[in-house]
Amino acid sequence: MDVGFTLGFIVVCLLVAFFALAFVRNQDEQAKAKGDAYYKAYKEQINENLKKQEYGKGYGIKCPNCGQVNVKKISTTSRAVSVGLTGLASDKIGKTYKCPKCNYIW
Ligand SMILES: [Zn+2]
Repeated sequence: MDVGFTLGFIVVCLLVAFFALAFVRNQDEQAKAKGDAYYKAYKEQINENLKKQEYGKGYGIKCPNCGQVNVKKISTTSRAVSVGLTGLASDKIGKTYKCPKCNYIW
């Protein structure tokens, strides 16, 4: 591995991270300057977006067992691992969602 290339790559990564952080902070400051109500809505929007990212396709889906809104969608990888570990008896086969609260799978 070329050391110069590796170092250059690390520097670029750090710069990208730095600018991304600066951008987020700038957005944050601008939202703050627009007043408390706006800032609150802005934060809520960010939280919603984070939740959407975290839950993916399970976002907004309700658990039929305990009523928890926003559940986890079982990924193909997780299902494949489950099949690999337990054979065909995996309880995840044919199930798509998992509740983060009561662990119900359906
Ligand atoms: Zn549940």
